[in-house]
Parts: sequence; structure tokens; C-alpha cells
Amino acid sequence: YGSRVINFAAGPAILPANVIKKAQSELYNWRGSGMSIMEMSHRGKEFLSVIQQAEADLRDLLKIPENYEVLFLQGGATTQFSAIPLNLCTSDDTADFIVTGSWGDKAFKEAQKYCKGKVVWTGKAEKYSSIPNQSELNVTVGAKYLHICANETIHGVEYKDYPSTGNDTLLVADMSSNFCSKPVDVSKFGLIYAGAQKNIGPAGVTIVIVRKDLIGKAQPSTPIMMDYKIHSENRSLYNTPPCFAIYMCGLVFGDLLSQGGLEAIERKNVEKAELLYDAIDASEGFYKCPVEKNVRSLMNVPFTMATPEMEAQFIKEASAQGMVQLKGHRSVGGIRASIYNAMPRAGVERLVAHMKAFQARHI
Ligand code: PMP
Repeated sequence: YGSRVINFAAGPAILPANVIKKAQSELYNWRGSGMSIMEMSHRGKEFLSVIQQAEADLRDLLKIPENYEVLFLQGGATTQFSAIPLNLCTSDDTADFIVTGSWGDKAFKEAQKYCKGKVVWTGKAEKYSSIPNQSELNVTVGAKYLHICANETIHGVEYKDYPSTGNDTLLVADMSSNFCSKPVDVSKFGLIYAGAQKNIGPAGVTIVIVRKDLIGKAQPSTPIMMDYKIHSENRSLYNTPPCFAIYMCGLVFGDLLSQGGLEAIERKNVEKAELLYDAIDASEGFYKCPVEKNVRSLMNVPFTMATPEMEAQFIKEASAQGMVQLKGHRSVGGIRASIYNAMPRAGVERLVAHMKAFQARHI
């Protein structure tokens, strides 16, 4: 790994080493332009080629249908918690929420300010360790949309099949922490959104994929920077976009394509996650993952040990071996290994070896 650590951070997170190196090689003088991406006009032909290629590659990766718009926005996924109801609902409309973790809960709380938000299922009582079956859902007839968090970054629960909604109810998904980690049938969704800083790039850009017929109905009070119509009409260039972040996402999309696209990426992610979950399950309770097996996340793997002191010792020793950012989110404690697309299999193998050695020393 040379001078680089094995970074298990939840986000901002590890990026592919070859992408960082490519960015480094182009940083000083981007493709003969005599300047870096950061110094260019966002309306010049150079940057236009960057954002257009990024969009084309993302469309290719996710097989995004023609009737969907791709927007590169700012404000993080958090801004979408309010932008979505502001764009899709009137203040009298109902939006349903399945709450499978902290992020879904935050999305619900923010949406309530701009529409009638309703929690149709929550996993709070079981500390967010599962995802409901279709039969457990009591969706609201006439709800404008049903919101899910496709992968709860803190709790490590991930949808494997998406819920079906009533006839006119749109499915809306926060895919911040599993975006581009596997193929997705975009046509099932009214809107998909994702902050970049986990799987596809640096913080600063948020992707929104929205069905075109849903654009143009924003509530009158919607701030201009949150109105999808403005951004769609201006091809994400209404104001100065986060140019460098978009450029980096573009490099990552190119890298994912060159690895064989999202089917190939998913296979690698399944293998990595299996290595880690198998190690947890084979530890005879020394390591415990609280999440129901059928919805365990391929991206964020939380686990606990007998005591917080032991966990602290585990994290400290991992860090001494170059494996960093393994501490669980401050709201839940424990350990969390985030193993996004860019985490090499060898990184997970190193963690598993540490788990085995640590356990051997403590029993
Ligand atoms: N949704 C999910 C699933 C997340 O993991 C995060 C960030 N950790 C957010 C939303 C919030 O994203 P941002 O910080 O980009 O606003």
C-alpha cells in the first residue's frame, strides 16, 4: 500500500488509487489546457466536455432511461431531504416513509416541513436491524411518494428488493451509500439521489436522477437552487457547479466502466462482504453483527464485541497496522467497516486476518 492506509471510513471514503493518481497527473495542466480543472470556466468547452462525459458514463453504468434527467447538484444528500417534497408535493400531499435507520428518519423529519410526512414502518424498536416485507407495509392510498433509504450507512441495513408502491405513488430512494455498487432498475423509481462522497467521488456534488415528467411542479416557495426545473433547463450549470468534484466523479465512472460495469462491481462487492460476514459468523459470538442476515449491507458492515474497551483495543491495534476509521458511528458505537467499491479485496482480507488474530489472543 506504500504510504497509503487501508481506509474503512464511511464517507468521505476511500477512492480508487488509480483515479487519485490520474487526477494527480492531470492536476497541474489538464489535458494541455494550461490550467487545472479548478481554474477553468464552468462554461468553457473543456469543462463542458467533462460534465457531459460524466453524465454519459453514469447513464451507461446505470442504464438510465431517456426519460430520466441526471442532475449534478450541491448541498449534499441532506438538501434533497427538503428539495424532494418541495419539488414533488404540494403542502397538502402525503409522502410515506419507511424508516430503516437514522438517515431515513432525518429525511422524514425534514420532509414533514413541506408536505404531510407519514412513517409507514419504522425499525427503531429493534435498533434498525431489519427491513420490512411488503406485507408489513401499510402504505397511504394516494401518497405522492414512498421514501426509502436503500442503504443505511450507520446501521448497515440494505434493501435487496425494493417495495412496490400503489399505482400513482412514486418510489424515491436515498442511495448515498450504495450508489453504483450494483445494477439498479432505475425505471422502478421516480427519483434516486446520492451524495458522492462514499462510492463515487469527493464531497461537494450530489446526484439526482429524476423522471422528466416530475420536473416543473415545485412549490412556489421553493428556493431557486432547489428547483429541479432550473437545474434541468440549465444542464446543472445554472450557477457555478462543484467542477472539481464532478470531474472526480467522472474519473470514477470511467474506472467502473473499465472494470466491466456494475455487474462486475457487484460480484466483487458480494465477495468482499462475504469474507467479512463469514468471519463474523464463524467467530462463535466473539464478533456480532446486529443486522438480519438477508438485509446485511454490502457497503457498511457494523459489528460489536463483548465490551467497548475491547472494541477500542481492536480499533487501536488495527490502526497500528494501517487500517483506519473502523470506529462505529458515535450514535451506535461498536465497529463499522465501510467497504465501498474502492476497497480492495486485500484490504478486507487484512481486516479479517486482524479479527482472527485478535480473537485468538483474547480467548
Ligand atoms: N443519506 C445517507 C444514506 C448518508 O449516508 C448520508 C451521509 N452520511 C446522508 C444521507 C447525508 O449526506 P450529506 O452529508 O451529503 O448531506
